Amino acid sequence: MTDAILVLNAGSSSLKFALYPDEENTQTPIVRGKINGIGNSPVFVAQDAEGVLLPPEACMTLHASAGHDDLIPTLLDWLRTYQGGVTIKAAGHRVVHGGRDHIGPAQVTDALLAELETLVPLAPLHQPHNLTAIRCVEAAAPGLPQIACFDTSFHRTQDRLAQLFALPRAMTDQGIIRYGFHGLSYEYIAGIMPLHLGDRADERVIVAHLGNGASMCAMKTRRSVATSMGFTALDGLMMGRRSGALDPGVVLYLMDNMNMSNDEVAQVLYKESGLLGVSGISNNMATLQASAAPQAREAIDLFCYRAASELAALAATIGGLDALVFTAGIGENSALVRSLICDRLEWMGVDLAEGENDRNATHINSAESGVDVLVIPTDEEAIIALSVVGALRTKSGLI
Ligand code: ADP
Repeated sequence: MTDAILVLNAGSSSLKFALYPDEENTQTPIVRGKINGIGNSPVFVAQDAEGVLLPPEACMTLHASAGHDDLIPTLLDWLRTYQGGVTIKAAGHRVVHGGRDHIGPAQVTDALLAELETLVPLAPLHQPHNLTAIRCVEAAAPGLPQIACFDTSFHRTQDRLAQLFALPRAMTDQGIIRYGFHGLSYEYIAGIMPLHLGDRADERVIVAHLGNGASMCAMKTRRSVATSMGFTALDGLMMGRRSGALDPGVVLYLMDNMNMSNDEVAQVLYKESGLLGVSGISNNMATLQASAAPQAREAIDLFCYRAASELAALAATIGGLDALVFTAGIGENSALVRSLICDRLEWMGVDLAEGENDRNATHINSAESGVDVLVIPTDEEAIIALSVVGALRTKSGLI
């Protein structure tokens, strides 16, 4: 029997999972996969430790209407019989919002769950599903230690100014501040950067996490100094379906003059804007790149224009730029997006080696570039597994 750590990253209709050996410093899962389309003909895909896709007969059987509460116990049973048997020692969860006080992972208790529930309005797309997954694991495996790893924690090193809105002080005191997100991805990249950058990893670095959700983080000594997402995951960059930063007057106008309700405005800002809204075609960058429609190209151009502007603003918070790291689906795979963003950063000394960029190499800057430009795949599940192993080893890591 292998001792293992289960990692879950639950979305509204998807569930990413990975099983890691219960060992320190391991970043290779025994098995990892994803269930997509939950609630509506879910699809299961998984790969083994070598990254080879499991054949259909080795995959978990799914029922068409299964929700998280049916799927999680079945997944636990399936994992426990994987390759001769696995003992799951603990589970780690990605939890999007940890509020102001959680600067690191925390063991799940009833009190913690109640506290995290109060943060649902701040991350309505993600937090409820993260908490559902925790409850489903507790129901399926009562007493199993569970660790919540927060996307907001990494940014709690920021100075107060970086976290403030220019709102009345009483609102700041009530927690209306810039929290920042994608912290698990940034923590992973911060940890692995020295491998590729040596001592330069501790200099002025901006990491661009460009996926369906997108944000950037300015770091110094590999700690977050400023980030593009704010109070919610709507702020900052243009995203797949989210608008990113918007004049708040637009929201007032939609409500007052276009008679839109709160829910309708939320639907526009979270689901109908971004690449999808501007192109009218798709929220998917690869689809837009393959399209000949001018609206598709305009959406890509706006995405890159906004990304370069946001990056320049973040560079001001760290006094310049020594290295730029691209990560997540678009950052890791779209040579076009990296090239369009970097073209706008020439004045900062950024110069790409186009051949290296085209083949998604790790180092993609030219020899003349004043800024190192890298492509580093992120791995949020690996950082969760390491946090769980750390919490199990260090009693103080557990409440
Ligand atoms: P999520 O935030 O859902 O985890 P990902 O990090 O998986 O998202 O990123 C998804 C995005 O990455 C999509 O817009 C997808 O089109 C884009 N992407 C993936 N591969 C490519 C590619 N080869 N070229 C361009 N875009 C890509």
